[in-house]
Amino acid sequence: LGPRLVKDALFSYVRPEITHSPELLAVSSRALEDLGLDPSEAETEEFKHVFAGNKILTWDEDTKEGIYPWAQCYGGYQFGQWAGQLGDGRAISLFETTNPKTGVRYEVQLKGAGKTPYSRFADGKAVLRSSIREFVVSEYLNAIGIPSTRALALTLCPRSRVVRERVEPGAIVTRFAQSWIRLGTFDLQRMRGNRKLLKQLAEYVAVNVYGGWDKLPSKLPPGEIKTTSSEIKTGVPADEIQGESPEAENRFTRLYRAVCRNNAKTVAAWQAYGFMNGVLNTDNTSVLGLSVDFGPFAFLDTFDPTYTPNHDDHMSRYSYRNQPTIVWWNLVRFGEALGELMGAGAKVDDPEFIEKGVKEGDVDELVARAEGIIERTGDEYKAVFLAEYKRLMTARLGLKTTKESDFNEVYSELLDFLEKYELDFHHAFRRLSGVRLADLETEQGRKDTAGIFFRNGEAPRQEDEKRERIAKWLEKWSWRVMEDWGADKDEERMEEMRKVNPNFVPRSWILDELIDRVEKKGEREILKDIMKLNLNPYEEHWGWNEGEEDRLCGDVPKFKGMMQCSCSS
Ligand code: AMP
Ligand code: MG
Ligand code: MG
Repeated sequence: LGPRLVKDALFSYVRPEITHSPELLAVSSRALEDLGLDPSEAETEEFKHVFAGNKILTWDEDTKEGIYPWAQCYGGYQFGQWAGQLGDGRAISLFETTNPKTGVRYEVQLKGAGKTPYSRFADGKAVLRSSIREFVVSEYLNAIGIPSTRALALTLCPRSRVVRERVEPGAIVTRFAQSWIRLGTFDLQRMRGNRKLLKQLAEYVAVNVYGGWDKLPSKLPPGEIKTTSSEIKTGVPADEIQGESPEAENRFTRLYRAVCRNNAKTVAAWQAYGFMNGVLNTDNTSVLGLSVDFGPFAFLDTFDPTYTPNHDDHMSRYSYRNQPTIVWWNLVRFGEALGELMGAGAKVDDPEFIEKGVKEGDVDELVARAEGIIERTGDEYKAVFLAEYKRLMTARLGLKTTKESDFNEVYSELLDFLEKYELDFHHAFRRLSGVRLADLETEQGRKDTAGIFFRNGEAPRQEDEKRERIAKWLEKWSWRVMEDWGADKDEERMEEMRKVNPNFVPRSWILDELIDRVEKKGEREILKDIMKLNLNPYEEHWGWNEGEEDRLCGDVPKFKGMMQCSCSS
C-alpha cells in the first residue's frame, strides 16, 4: 500500500527498507549512556543492522509476535497555512526502551529508512548531508542543556542514490526522544473533527508522556497571573511562576499549560544561545517542548535578529527574532485543537459530549471559555519565556542576580552593539568569560579589552567610537559583576561563565566542511574528532590537534557566515 490518507488512526505499521552494506559512520557516546547501552554494543554487527533497518529486534517473523515498527500520523500548519495530513514520511519508529538506571523511556526511530503511508510524493529517504547535520546538532543542543530530540547513530547507505538537486548518497539517523508527538498530531484530528481520538491523544500525552495528570501544573487558587508583576521582572525562576487556574479549569487546560510552559522554556534557550530551527511549523513543534526536526537550522554567527537560516523563508517568518512569537502562534493553534475539551469544563467526561459535542445553546459559552484560557495561557507563556531567558542571560553574563535595570542596560546594550557592529554572538560571551575585572579598571584598559569582540586583526583604532561605546558597556558590566561577586572572586566567576558559554558551536560553515570531508573526501575520523568538541563544548582544549581546535572555535572564515540552507534534505 502506497502513500494515503489515514483516517481515525494515529499511526500505521510499516517496516524500514533493507539497507545493503550499511556503514556505521558515527555513534554518540552520550546517547549510548542515556539509553543505558554499553559502548561495546555499538561495535557489534547486530547494532549496525538493527539501526540500518535490516533487523527488527522486537518482532518475530515466524510467530508474527512482538512489536512491529510504526510511523506516526500527523498534520500541520506550514508557513502559516493548513497543510493537511503530513505524518512520518521518512521516519519509522522501531521500539520503546527504558534506561534501567534513570527510568526514562525513549521511542527509538530511524529517519531516512524508506517510504511510509505518509510519504506523499516523496521518497522516504534522507541525504547524508542533512543526516550529518541532524546527528551533530541534536547531540549538541542536548550537551548545552537545551531540550532536544537525540541522535544515537549515523549510518551511510552506500547503495542508495537519493535524487535531490543532484544525486546524493543516502543515510539514516537513529534518533530517540521521550515523545515524537507534535502539535500537528493534534491539529490533524481537530481539522477532521475527531473529538474522540483527540481526547484519547490528549489523555495519552498527559499520562504517558508527561507521566500522569498529577505531574501537570497544579490547580492553583484563582488569582492574577503574575506576568506583569515586579516579581517576574526581577527574575523569579520559570518553574515558580504561577498561572491562574479558575474553578472552571479542567485537566485538559492543565495539559495545555504544561505544553505551553515547556515550549516557552525551550524557545527562551534558543534565543539565549542563538539557535534557529528554521522551519517552525506546527508539525515541528513538540508536545514536550523538545527541539525537533532539524532541516535548515543554524546558529547565529554575527548577531542579526532578522536572519533566517531557511533559504525558502522569503518572509523571514522563522527568523531569530520571530521564534518566540511563532511558537506562540503554533501554541494558539494547539489551544484551538484542545479548545473544545478545555472549554467543555466539567462536561468533558460526559459520553454525550464526546459523541455529539456540547448542545447548540452552550457553544458560545464553551468558545468564550476556551478563548479565555488561551489568552491567559498566553500571559503565562510570556512570563515563563521571560523568566527563563533572563535566567540564562544572567548566567551567560556571569551575574548571580537579575536586576530590573539589567534588561536595558546590560542585555539590550550588549545586543545592540553586537548587531550594529556585526559582531559574533558566541564569541562575545565566551571571550567575556576570560576578561578580568582588573583589566577594566581604567579607561585605557576598557578600550583595550573592547578589542575582544572583533575578529582577529579587525579591531578598530583606539579613538574609534565603537571602542568607546563598548568600553562604556564593559564599565557597566564590571560594576554589576562586582556588585554580585565582590572584587576578588574573578577566578570563580570566570570558571562559572565558561561553564555556560560554549567554546565550540556547530556553526553552518563547520557542518559544511564536515559534510564535504565525509562525503567527498571519504574521511571518517573527523566525525569522531568533531563529536569530542560537540559533546563537551565548554572545554578549552580536547586533546586533539590544537591548531584545528582553535580554527574550529575561532573566527568564522570570511564569506562563510550566516549561510542559508534549502529545505531539500
Ligand atoms: P519537514 O519540512 O521536515 O517538517 O517535513 C514535512 C513533511 O514532509 C513531513 O511529513 C515529512 O515526513 C515529509 N517529508 C520530508 N522529506 C521527505 C522525504 N524525503 N520522503 C518522505 N517524506 C518526506
Ligand atoms: Mg517535520
Ligand atoms: Mg524535516
